[in-house]
Amino acid sequence: MTSAPPGVPFLDLAAAHAEQRDELEAAALGVLRSDRVLLGPALATFEGEWAAAVGARHAVGVNSGLDALVLGLRALGLGPGDEVLVPSHTFVATWLAVVHVGCVPVPVDVSPVTGLWDVGTVAAAVGPRTRALLPVHLYGHPVDLDALMDLARAHGLLVLDDAAQAHGARLAGRPVGALAHATAWSFYPGKNLGALGDGGAVTTDDPELAARLRSLRNYGSSEKYVHEEIGWNSRLDEVQAAMLSVKLRRLAEYNARRTAVAHRYEEELAGTGLELPRTAAGTDPVWHLYVVRTPARDRLRAVLTAAGVETGVHYPTPPHRQRAFAGTAPARTDLPVADRLATEVLSLPMGPHLTEQQQDRVIEAVRGAGWLGRGPATTA
Ligand SMILES: *Cc1c(COP(=O)(O)O)cnc(C)c1O
Repeated sequence: MTSAPPGVPFLDLAAAHAEQRDELEAAALGVLRSDRVLLGPALATFEGEWAAAVGARHAVGVNSGLDALVLGLRALGLGPGDEVLVPSHTFVATWLAVVHVGCVPVPVDVSPVTGLWDVGTVAAAVGPRTRALLPVHLYGHPVDLDALMDLARAHGLLVLDDAAQAHGARLAGRPVGALAHATAWSFYPGKNLGALGDGGAVTTDDPELAARLRSLRNYGSSEKYVHEEIGWNSRLDEVQAAMLSVKLRRLAEYNARRTAVAHRYEEELAGTGLELPRTAAGTDPVWHLYVVRTPARDRLRAVLTAAGVETGVHYPTPPHRQRAFAGTAPARTDLPVADRLATEVLSLPMGPHLTEQQQDRVIEAVRGAGWLGRGPATTA
């Protein structure tokens, strides 16, 4: 009897943990023995390391990526009535944050080529009530923040970038992290830098903004029992901060391994008809996800599943089709690119621990699926 070969996981977090098990356990034990569990030395250490890693003067650790976005918007002074431009194609948290601070998310459709914001389209969407831009470096591909900052300066807008999928990504050689007014990070376990639970941070070069964020994450207080503003409880705890310091040691190496996986897909999947992700000139993406496009998405996904290959869809329903935003004015549904992407995107296994043999199986299965392009098959 033959048994099916083991499946190819979408992301092998256990392998990452195994590689650093001793360091992680020692760091967790260190926190336990220190008896400092919140706002202690492990957080201060990680904040310093993370700020340095992304070229920012300040990093403020919070509970999650969603909180980083919410508190980032609040710290920038945004609130009820303000309109914030958001990409049509993103994880729902980007939009949720805007609504949570009382602002109106105004979707701007993404480029059909890159799936990211195109600055010309964003410029055309700026209106009299627009107060801020919320670009997303989706899948680990940096958005052109230089052009967006020029646009923001011309209109007096604030810019908070969502870097939840872009740890270590670079734009013209500079890391994402202090290129806008503030940058929001998630350390959800599946991100390129992930904690062993929830976590997030905001980075910025602005010392006043950093101080405001430190207050907002801690009940609006910088001195115990003195409350200057309506704050939250959103603190990155000592255990998670210690885990993140350990995992940060491997981030550059793991991003390089992701890049090698991406390059191999690019070489081996040419000619299948699949639309492969494109890297904009002057950008160094970190391949949080490897997302291909095909009108035969559902068929390809079924073929891969049958071959034991796990895949993902990021994301099957765009935010403007979610019931949660039904009452959100101005409710826009003329976002054809986002609608099309939702039916065509497929995320292939990607991660620093995807072995060559596992990737071979993905590639073979994709090739075996037949022509995946828009028109008829072209002969090479
Ligand atoms: C993961 C993610 C978030 C939210 O982060 P959490 O830590 O899960 O709250 C926000 N935006 C994007 C683009 C994400 O991928």
